[in-house]
This record gives sequence, structure tokens and C-alpha cells, in this order.
Amino acid sequence: MRAIQFSRTGGPDVLELVEVDPPSPAPGQVLIRHEAIGINFIDTYHRSGLYPVKLPTTLGGEAAGVVEAVGEGVTRFKAGDRVAYAGGFGGYAEANVMAADRVVRVPDGVDARTAAAALLKGMTVEAFIRRCYPVQAGQTVLVHAAAGGVGQIMVQWLKAIGAEVIATVGSEAKAARARDLGADHVILYREQDVAAEVRRITGGKGVPVAYDSVGKDTYEATLGSLSRRGWFVSFGNASGPAPAVEPLRLLRGGSLVFTRPTLFDFVATTEELDASAAALFDMIASGKVKVEIGQTFPLADAAKAHEALESRATVGASLLIP
Ligand code: NDP
Repeated sequence: MRAIQFSRTGGPDVLELVEVDPPSPAPGQVLIRHEAIGINFIDTYHRSGLYPVKLPTTLGGEAAGVVEAVGEGVTRFKAGDRVAYAGGFGGYAEANVMAADRVVRVPDGVDARTAAAALLKGMTVEAFIRRCYPVQAGQTVLVHAAAGGVGQIMVQWLKAIGAEVIATVGSEAKAARARDLGADHVILYREQDVAAEVRRITGGKGVPVAYDSVGKDTYEATLGSLSRRGWFVSFGNASGPAPAVEPLRLLRGGSLVFTRPTLFDFVATTEELDASAAALFDMIASGKVKVEIGQTFPLADAAKAHEALESRATVGASLLIP
């Protein structure tokens, strides 16, 4: 089967299309034939070396497809089931084996492309707006990179629970997209002073929670946007990692809370995984969250897909099609 591997870290050019033997499921595993493969910003961190991994490896931790075979002892799935997963490696390939208890069933009515585009990004939203910091109706929330994969789902889900959303985006076209999705206020963060705008919108108070996946470039603006006892949820490094947190800066900002969550600590058990995926699929089925697949690339063009993602040229989610 075809797979995208890398044996050294670096730019998109380290990604190589290779021919490998299809894996067979060990006890407890399922073999999944991929129909659509999710592309996530974390894939670029693995490729660049920001998040070290053992090499060589097949990149990618999200896909949807059909169970082709099950390993000994697997009762959760049978051949023919429609499934998806978020996490691990081996995703950028025609097929992959995964532990059955890390795989979720895709409900009827959700197609494979939507599942692959939404599972990792949507569970991230579920975890961080409902469990990391439980957002309440009526609260004003700052969401950076709001037209991106995670950002689009976050804006819609926050609106569905009755929050007021201040979105930041990198271009006019993305601003229009964020408004269409329901954002109440949109800030062009490459041109405008984000903290000053947030203070203006909130009558000087600031927001009780800010979701920052941009990292380095938005760190100061996010700190400056928080209200007294506000939460800084730092969950990504699209522009590079956020700097070291200075405790006295949190004091001066008004007894702020800084947290740096990863989805995988919020779906660590199979029960948590199933509950998070079910909540996401409910939001999709109800029409409250629409998943935009902004770009699709053939599997062989994984390097081009990474170039697009890292140059901020994408909107919504991106897929590789095997
Ligand atoms: P996106 O589709 O959101 O793409 C990243 C976006 O970030 C870009 O489109 C761009 O939007 C913005 N951005 C700002 N500065 C830069 C920069 N210097 N280089 C590139 N992009 C920049 O990606 P994903 O939806 O896959 O992921 C969004 C973020 O969420 C990532 O940081 C990812 O690591 C994080 N994440 C974290 C998880 C966790 O468990 N902690 C889980 C899932 C995702 P614009 O043009 O509007 O500026």
C-alpha cells in the first residue's frame, strides 16, 4: 500500500511517498481501510521536529474508513463497520491498524470525509470549551484563527451554547467566513491591536477565557485581552511555541490562569473518547456545527498540503484522499 513517511525532520520536502506492506491487526487491534485522512497542524510539528517522534515513521493521526479485519479478542467492531480515529501515527496511508478501544463508530448520516475532517478538531473543541474551561451562556470568548479547522468548529459550538464570540483571523476573506459562522466580532489580528479591540468590545473588562492556538505571535495580545481571573487556554503553536510563562505576569494581569491542554488527556479513556465523539457527532447531526472541507489533496501530495497549511492558505479542514 502507499504511505507518506519521513526519516528526517524538516520542511514539507522530507515527506516521501513509499510503498509498504499493509499491516495486519495484532490482538486488540482493527485494520482500517481509509476513505479520507485528516490533516492536522500537529502533523507539521511532528514533521518539523517540534514534537519529537521516533523515525522513520508514517505521519498522520486521523482518518475515517471501513474496518477490514479485526485482531484476536476484538468485540467492539467487526469487518464492514464504519469507523474513525484521532491520535497515533500511520494515518497518511491507504490503511492503518489501531487499538480497537481508540477507534469510534461513525454514525449513519455522517460521511467518511466529514468524520475525518471533524473528529480530532471537533473533540478538541468539545474538550476545551466544555471540560477544560466550561464556557457558560452569555460569556464573551476570544477565539484565535477562527476560520481554521479547529477555529470554525469552535466558533459554531460556542454560538450554539449561547456564548458571544470575538474571532481573530488573518485575512478579509477569513473574516467573512468567521462572520458567516456566527462570530459576533471579528478582528484582523495581523493589522489590528487585538487587546485594545477586545477591551473596546467588552467595555474595558476583557474576556473570561481566550482560546489561543497561534502561540508565539498572539501570546501578549491574549494576555492583554483577559478579564480579572481570566483563563488563557494555550493549545497550539501555529506561529511557534508560546514563551515561558512568568507567574508575576499572571498576577499583574489580574490573577490569571494559564493552561496548556492537549486533547489526548481529555479522551484518555475509551469512555471519554466515546462521549466526546458522540457529543461532536450530535452537534453535526443537529446542524449546529457544519464542517467545511476547504481543501482536499491526493495522498501523494501531502507535502503540498503541508505547504498550504503552514502558509495560512487554507480555510476550514483539509483532507488527504487515498
Ligand atoms: P488551522 O486550520 O487552524 O491552521 C492554522 C491557522 O493558524 C492558519 O490557517 C492561520 O490562520 C493561523 N496562523 C496564525 N499564525 C500562523 C503562522 N505563523 N503560520 C501558520 N498559521 C498561522 O489548523 P488546525 O485546525 O489543524 O489546528 C489549529 C490549531 O489547534 C493548531 O495550532 C493546532 O496545533 C492546535 N490543536 C491543538 C490540539 C491540542 O490538543 N492541544 C488539538 C488540535 C489542534 P489565519 O490565516 O487566520 O491567521
